[in-house]
Amino acid sequence: MTARQLGMVIDLNKCIGCQTCTLACKSQWTDRDGREFMYWNHVETRPGKGYPKDWEQAGGGWDGDTLRPGRLPRLHEDYGYPAEFGYEVLFEEGEKPLRPKEEMAWGPNWDEDQGAGEYPNSYFFYLPRLCNHCSNPACQVACPRQAIYKREEDGIVLIDQERCRGYRYCVAACPYKKIYFNPLAGKSEKCIFCYPRLEKGLPQACAYQCVGRARHVAFLDDQEGALHQLVNQWKVALPLHAEYGTQPNVYYVPPLSPPKIGSNGRSLDEPRVPDEYLVQLFGPGVGAALEMLREEMAKKNRGEASELMDLLIAYRHGDMFRLDRPREVV
Ligand code: SF4
Ligand code: SF4
Repeated sequence: MTARQLGMVIDLNKCIGCQTCTLACKSQWTDRDGREFMYWNHVETRPGKGYPKDWEQAGGGWDGDTLRPGRLPRLHEDYGYPAEFGYEVLFEEGEKPLRPKEEMAWGPNWDEDQGAGEYPNSYFFYLPRLCNHCSNPACQVACPRQAIYKREEDGIVLIDQERCRGYRYCVAACPYKKIYFNPLAGKSEKCIFCYPRLEKGLPQACAYQCVGRARHVAFLDDQEGALHQLVNQWKVALPLHAEYGTQPNVYYVPPLSPPKIGSNGRSLDEPRVPDEYLVQLFGPGVGAALEMLREEMAKKNRGEASELMDLLIAYRHGDMFRLDRPREVV
């Protein structure tokens, strides 16, 4: 337990899957050699295999007090290494399409927007993912070099690049598969929650540039902050796969969905995204969270006040980030 814990809430009802956050992160932190396949922040389509492929089946996390075994994702099969393109065809005679030199079978967002279900009841939603800066990080305990630590002042989980020897126990131990191995540097690397930006009073690049205004950042013990209010007070923001036991500090407002359409073309009393699928991701509290969201949304639609909806709408961009430091952005 650190003195304080900074966290993030991502409202899945506002995420439009634009990947602006992904690019904000990629261009700021991983746009260098050895990091071609690294996405410290990415947005995957659900239902889907995710990134790296089938990460939920790759193990890691905790089984009670014991680390659960995990496996390393494979560079080409699971991450999907960026392809080389045969640009020379552009200068040859004849119209040849520009294609990867090798046949590709997987990559980030390979199954984007596919989702599940049959028309007219097909469905999908977007799930942005980053390191959860967990309170009980399996990655930290798995490291035999004690290279991974949590900052006392904000609970950010970092890898000491001087101590890291690239053994990759942390990669296997993280159940969210949010640590990547840089083969050129021979070190493991991960999301640093933009701590250099935070130290200047700026929110994380992914949160600040989020087009959907879907991301709130605050300390968990800040009673005025969105994190406390959405997680503890309204209980509409839930951790992803809490059963992995790492106590994640990124929370999600689960997605509402339109009703299913019956064979007679009429709406059924059943949401398009199956409850059981959401329970699988966000745990048993998801039903109550969705009910609360529906009730408060109905209030707003009737023209009544709703503190919860106002908080989620986030009229003022600057209100979404409470960093307890001199703020250079509003
Ligand atoms: S999400 Fe993974 S890498 Fe991040 S702190 Fe938790 S266990 Fe470690
Ligand atoms: S920038 Fe915001 S809206 Fe766009 S994909 Fe990322 S979280 Fe979703």
